Amino acid sequence: MIKVGMNNLSIAYQAHEKELNKSLFNCIKSGQYIMGEEVQLFTQSLQDYTQSPYVIPCANGTDALQLAMMALPLHPGDEVLIPAFNYIAAAEAACLLKLIPRFVDVDESDFNSHAKHFKAAITPKTKALVAVHLFGQCCDMEEILQLAKTYNLFVIEDNAQSLGCRYKTANGLEKISGTIGDIGILSFFPTKNLGAMGDGGALLTSDASLANRLRMLASHGQQTRYRHEIIGMNSRLDTLQAAILNIKIGYLNEELEIRRFLAQRYIKAFSEIKELRLPIERSNTWHTYNQFTIIVQNDKRDILQNYLRDAGIATMIYYPESLDRQPAFADYKLTRNNRLETSHILPSKVLSLPLYPYLKIKEQDYVIEKILDFYN
Ligand SMILES: *Cc1c(COP(=O)(O)O)cnc(C)c1O
Repeated sequence: MIKVGMNNLSIAYQAHEKELNKSLFNCIKSGQYIMGEEVQLFTQSLQDYTQSPYVIPCANGTDALQLAMMALPLHPGDEVLIPAFNYIAAAEAACLLKLIPRFVDVDESDFNSHAKHFKAAITPKTKALVAVHLFGQCCDMEEILQLAKTYNLFVIEDNAQSLGCRYKTANGLEKISGTIGDIGILSFFPTKNLGAMGDGGALLTSDASLANRLRMLASHGQQTRYRHEIIGMNSRLDTLQAAILNIKIGYLNEELEIRRFLAQRYIKAFSEIKELRLPIERSNTWHTYNQFTIIVQNDKRDILQNYLRDAGIATMIYYPESLDRQPAFADYKLTRNNRLETSHILPSKVLSLPLYPYLKIKEQDYVIEKILDFYN
């Protein structure tokens, strides 16, 4: 029996072992462990990659979301629209700042919130929305920006899962996800598209004064050492992580191409299975498949997951519960118009299959074989 995991980070390391070792040891020998050259280098590489005018590195994606909400002119009691079928980070950051998370539904087609979902939850107190680019594909940003403009809302892009996703506007412009709203956030958690060997994050913006404020907020509110102009945080990108990311960013596009190749292989293999809903790539996006998440019909999700587990194949459920049903958010009531139908159905139907750049073809073929077996 072959064993297939959801990821294999030590294989990812071995693929570039020599370069990574060299970069890490140079950093260790340099004695520069906080900020310094590696962090500067990575900030520049990320700026080149995203074409974002300003890039602010920070400690992790969750901090990045909190910093974004601190940098924008938001005040306690202001409402922030956040997808309910989602990781906890954005809603958690909002609550810590005494903002009110208002959960909005997502679309079954791409797992993302569309403008209509955000619109349904707008109240006079709504001041911002978080467009979460789930599973590797960015939201339809043009319609979201239009809505935000109409209602005067700030737009934060949670691009933690979708670095490298390209988005085509109606007039043919190509943008990188995370550079479209007011502030975009990134995470370098090991399993993200660009993964460190620990935590890391960054913020993207094209607004010079927001960039300046974000940089200060991430560094105890100081521009000059020991001169604290505002209350900030200690949120630095670790220098050793930057030394790793400096190597890995050079392979990002290559790895995204492999993710897309593997995704196409799954899609082709399962195209005849009527009981599976496969991921859809919208025509205006270039999906990066951080996750390959299928919808399993007819209440067979758990049976399929157990069948695969018995065959040595790991799968994951992203996410097993919508945020509005988490005990932590019990105090945050829904508004009358934003029913969360899809967000409540998906947790019992979704299944994420193994897909990462170093998944071997024979491992993927084994996953395919077992899923075809299950349905035959
Ligand atoms: C991973 C993730 C985050 C948080 O990133 P960390 O670096 O782990 O703090 C935020 N939002 C989404 C959607 C994520 O997947």
